[in-house]
Amino acid sequence: MLPIEVTALREQLAQQGVTLVAVSKTQPIDKIQALYEAGQRVFGENRVQELTAKYEQLPQDIEWHLIGHLQTNKVKYIAPFVQLIHSVDSLHLLVEINKQAAKCGRVIRCLLQFWVAQEETKFGLTWQEATELLQSPQFANLHNVEIVGIMGMASITDDAAQTRREFDQLRSYFEQLRQQFFSQQASFSTVSMGMSGDYRMAIEAGSTMVRLGTLLF
Ligand SMILES: *Cc1c(COP(=O)(O)O)cnc(C)c1O
Repeated sequence: MLPIEVTALREQLAQQGVTLVAVSKTQPIDKIQALYEAGQRVFGENRVQELTAKYEQLPQDIEWHLIGHLQTNKVKYIAPFVQLIHSVDSLHLLVEINKQAAKCGRVIRCLLQFWVAQEETKFGLTWQEATELLQSPQFANLHNVEIVGIMGMASITDDAAQTRREFDQLRSYFEQLRQQFFSQQASFSTVSMGMSGDYRMAIEAGSTMVRLGTLLF
């Protein structure tokens, strides 16, 4: 897409209440810069090292999201600047994010990643693991993280009905968590689902944040 087309897509999505995360992994600085100049401010990376390198080279008002699997020993590198971590899949990781955020005097916003796909290789929490995490006394003591929603990835499949079922499942997890745990917290409002191949269906199913790489670059 041309940067101007990305701008049009971003505005169209915004009208539907959907935030566009430009997934810039493996993309060179000049291509990211071109989207930035066309008004894009939210970028997502899936590797810590690449994220920190790009953070240092690009304008400071970019909102950087970490969308890929995060190892506890790498949290410290992104804690000073990351705006949203999409991939929280354990209490252990959340405790470390909280610790590093506290050191920086920050509150880091996070999404709980759910596992809904068929593939064993994908990461994420089951419903039971997520509720256990949210009910644990340890979680209640974390004051430097804020859970603002959920994230998920659908299976890689040609079966549109299955993709739709998985997105519906994610949206339903979001609704249930909101009711049971976040009814007093208006900031719990993000459903991050939808990639280049399936984002339209994700929006139909109630996505509020799409993560697009291939389609944009
Ligand atoms: C790469 C990636 C995307 C973007 O995928 P595209 O198919 O290129 O749009 C979205 N989410 C995650 C977690 C990714 O790793």
